[in-house]
Amino acid sequence: VAIDWAIALHGGAGPIPGRDYAPEEAHLTALVTEAGRHLAAGASALETVHAAVAVMEASGLYLAGRGAQANTAGAYELDAAIMDGASRRAGAVGALQGIVSPVAAARLVMERTPNVLIVGAAAQRLMLAAGLEPVTDPATYYRPSAETTVQAYAPMIGTVGAVARDRDGRLAAATSTAGIGAKTPGRLGDTPLIGAGTWADDTAAVSCTGLGEYFIRANVAADVSARMRYGGASLEAAAAAALATMKSLGGEGGLIAVSADGTITLPFNSGGMKRAMTDATGRVFTATFA
Ligand code: ASP
Repeated sequence: VAIDWAIALHGGAGPIPGRDYAPEEAHLTALVTEAGRHLAAGASALETVHAAVAVMEASGLYLAGRGAQANTAGAYELDAAIMDGASRRAGAVGALQGIVSPVAAARLVMERTPNVLIVGAAAQRLMLAAGLEPVTDPATYYRPSAETTVQAYAPMIGTVGAVARDRDGRLAAATSTAGIGAKTPGRLGDTPLIGAGTWADDTAAVSCTGLGEYFIRANVAADVSARMRYGGASLEAAAAAALATMKSLGGEGGLIAVSADGTITLPFNSGGMKRAMTDATGRVFTATFA
């Protein structure tokens, strides 16, 4: 019997060893609980992952949205994606500047264009013309999260993501990031690449975090579903194997995933991953390190 609804969030796979993540964990716990209430009341998985990621972007607590770090040229280039499992509709933006909510921009690409991925200045113009909220002064808007002030920690990784199963059995995933620390202008990671960092179909919904170059080369997010569909793997086994492939290439990170029966898995092979989940059984779980 499927679990009626389920949701998981991540706040990035690059926590600083020994740092106290109590504020982030409290935020994740409150947010996942609220998102669960919406799912229990019948909200769609798509609406729920979008809303949860938008709240994390606006919080400034993670390396995404308001908490973004600048690239090596001093510009704030953000990436995001969203995917609806039942329809496999997807939208994404890359290297987007000047828009408060990259996940809202990804949703707009999905719903109001015939495209899946739009990048750079053209994406920004499209979003401004569509009325998305602009960042009027990047210098004061962005408040790089605590991680970005710790110079010694490299490579810096941190992203936000959400996956959900709703009461109608639909799955959805969304991910938003400022990418890795000290990134090259124009660099895109796995986050906006459908299949690499973000994926949802009717088998599983997946949102990844970690060193994006390796997640791209292992096509991690879609690989989780493929291993289940072609190989008959369980969600847990599929996610572990997809991450192991990525690690074998030299990368590190983690993912959150939910399958059609409402099972959630939150694996990582980095030093930690800010993560939280709740489901219709009423349990709530939040953690950063192992
Ligand atoms: N995966 C993201 C990227 O490579 C970074 C992260 O998850 O922290 O852009």
